[in-house]
Amino acid sequence: MADRILDPDTTNEEEIELYEKTLRPKSFAEIIGRAREKESLQILISAAKTRLEPIDHILLHGPPGLGKTSLAHVIASEAGVQLYITSGPAIERKGDLASILTNIEPNGILFIDEIHRLNRAVEEVLYSAMEDRAIDIILGKGPAARSIRLDLNPLTIIGATTRAGSLSSPLRDRFGLDLRLDYYSISEISELLIQKAAVLDTQLESEAIAEIAARSRKTPRIAIRLLKRVRDYAQVSGDMSITRDRALQALELIGVDEFGLDGLDRKIINYIIEHYKGGPIGLQALAAALSEDLVTLQDVYEPFLLQEGFLARTPRGRVVTDKGLRYYHKNNVKD
Ligand code: ADP
Repeated sequence: MADRILDPDTTNEEEIELYEKTLRPKSFAEIIGRAREKESLQILISAAKTRLEPIDHILLHGPPGLGKTSLAHVIASEAGVQLYITSGPAIERKGDLASILTNIEPNGILFIDEIHRLNRAVEEVLYSAMEDRAIDIILGKGPAARSIRLDLNPLTIIGATTRAGSLSSPLRDRFGLDLRLDYYSISEISELLIQKAAVLDTQLESEAIAEIAARSRKTPRIAIRLLKRVRDYAQVSGDMSITRDRALQALELIGVDEFGLDGLDRKIINYIIEHYKGGPIGLQALAAALSEDLVTLQDVYEPFLLQEGFLARTPRGRVVTDKGLRYYHKNNVKD
């Protein structure tokens, strides 16, 4: 999965650095689309500024690569406060979270990525930090142990999750604003590609942009990754401006079709049709049959196939829709 072009998760250090430095939007003005979300956030920020209080806690949820981390950066810079970044799996013990929380500057923002992966004990520390701006820590062991309460600076928690459903309800209830980030429209992705191409100093004809946007799964991180691949390909060919044909040649090599579907999407559709007569089939059974990671299917593949109407969810499992069936017959591809 690591080098699968469509994997919107990124663990590649260099890539992260490049995102951080050059491609991440730095203000609301640079954020493409998301008009409704920007408006709610701007109200929240200016209310907090007027009251000289921290911003209310915010939960951002949606598939990977849709801009949750970028929004957290922009919220902090628009509010003029310090941003601290961590993630659910990185905080193993209560003490880890306590030391992060006690080092936060007044009104600072703590961004917790993959917040659904926090363990229960750590989650409980977070409750009191969010609600009472204080935490209880136990000093010593056994009968001599005693609990002391530590007051924290006023702070904001921004949680990001690909699975709002896996969040415990006491945690979810503590967020004042709950924003669901949906996939972008193709025209927003095109706009985003124009913005990023300028940052990367790359010239593209508008038809080339349209072809990349169509294959981006309506996800900024994938759009950016495809753009970089196309740019590399064109550079090798010595092109100054990338034409539609050149973009198509590069995209052909990557193996993503005009719907944004790749080999695994096709495998999923083919398998359900060929072995389950179109479904229903549970996601777990599907992951086992295809020897694929369940989390990847759940967080990355299924949401997009559902959103684009190739699959539908029923109480008994996933089924291939008429659109999925037409896609299957048209391609008749067996990967
Ligand atoms: P997530 O945290 O949801 O996985 P990121 O915030 O890392 O996603 O976004 C991935 C990339 O997409 C970032 O490098 C950022 O530059 C870009 N991006 C996402 N949303 C937008 C947007 N609305 N406008 C401009 N760029 C965006």
